[in-house]
Amino acid sequence: MAALTQKPTRQGGHHSNQPEEIIQYTKGLRIMAEDLLTRIKRQGVILGDGGYLIELERRGYVDTGSGREKVGTGRGSGQYTPEVAIEHPEALRELHREFLRAGSQALQALTFFGTREKLTRAGFGEQTEAINEAAVRIAREVARDQALVAGSVSRTQLFERQGPSAAGFVRGLLAEQIRLLQKAGVDFLILETFFHLEEMLIGLECARDSKLLVVATMSFRPRATECSDGHSVAECARAMVAAGASVVGANCEQEPERMLPILREMRKAVAVPLAAQPAAFRTTDEIPCFTRMSQFPDHLETLQVSRQSFSDFAARARAEGIGYLGGCCGCNAAYIRSLAAGLKTAAAGASSSPV
Ligand SMILES: [Zn+2]
Repeated sequence: MAALTQKPTRQGGHHSNQPEEIIQYTKGLRIMAEDLLTRIKRQGVILGDGGYLIELERRGYVDTGSGREKVGTGRGSGQYTPEVAIEHPEALRELHREFLRAGSQALQALTFFGTREKLTRAGFGEQTEAINEAAVRIAREVARDQALVAGSVSRTQLFERQGPSAAGFVRGLLAEQIRLLQKAGVDFLILETFFHLEEMLIGLECARDSKLLVVATMSFRPRATECSDGHSVAECARAMVAAGASVVGANCEQEPERMLPILREMRKAVAVPLAAQPAAFRTTDEIPCFTRMSQFPDHLETLQVSRQSFSDFAARARAEGIGYLGGCCGCNAAYIRSLAAGLKTAAAGASSSPV
């Protein structure tokens, strides 16, 4: 926690007219006055950002892999991989700016699917260090002293592809990425979109060595009541807290309404703040996860839920114990603006009600 609790130190020139790109951030120096937990405690809830890969895919900078016969067969054949950080940094920078302008108080560096093996399948394995470093640097340049910067660490996909025998390999991959993110200077980590609790716990174990504060969110599929290796929502929450997560929750796969029951199960199971980053796609009772809907990935627009549903969700967030609120796939800046509006409405209501 040392890096997180240092006193804020402004570098000279912060108020100068230098373009933000040339403002230097010294490693280990934090310009934010508060760490994540302190800020959640003070504000009740901190507003995160939205989903990067789906939005950048829509803008033409990321590949779904759906148009190809074989995914992961060499350079440029990735599937939702984050090489945009070095291939089109201006596109990534612009999306960060949009989220910040919409009200995000924490920006996630686009390091999702940024482990060496996944990048190797996309033909970018040799750029693993460069991609992770660039993604953090770009987020930091945009965030300046307006937002915290999180390193995103996601599942490797190897538990889905190879099963639990991949555990040892996975540990090395996640440990390497977390070391890269720490070196690049993230404020905290978000371990997200893990389908298997076993893989999440390996990630948390690797994160412990970094001493960085961790937000840990599982994605529940194919059922919304348990993770892919069969642990209930409550079991997942308890296990993540026991493994060192400071904030636990759910992200991706479900829209706000369908994610709410998951969060309530977690609320009953643990006392730490919850994180919620729902997807903006409509799911069904039969298929409560959008990535298993037949519309994924090329007909997703037909499943898009309204931004108003995110505004409504935000208005209830504090009462539901949500301390970290954002969006995942399908959430562009319009959805983050709606979350911000919902939080504002709730705060105004709370302050005007009689004590
Ligand atoms: Zn997502």
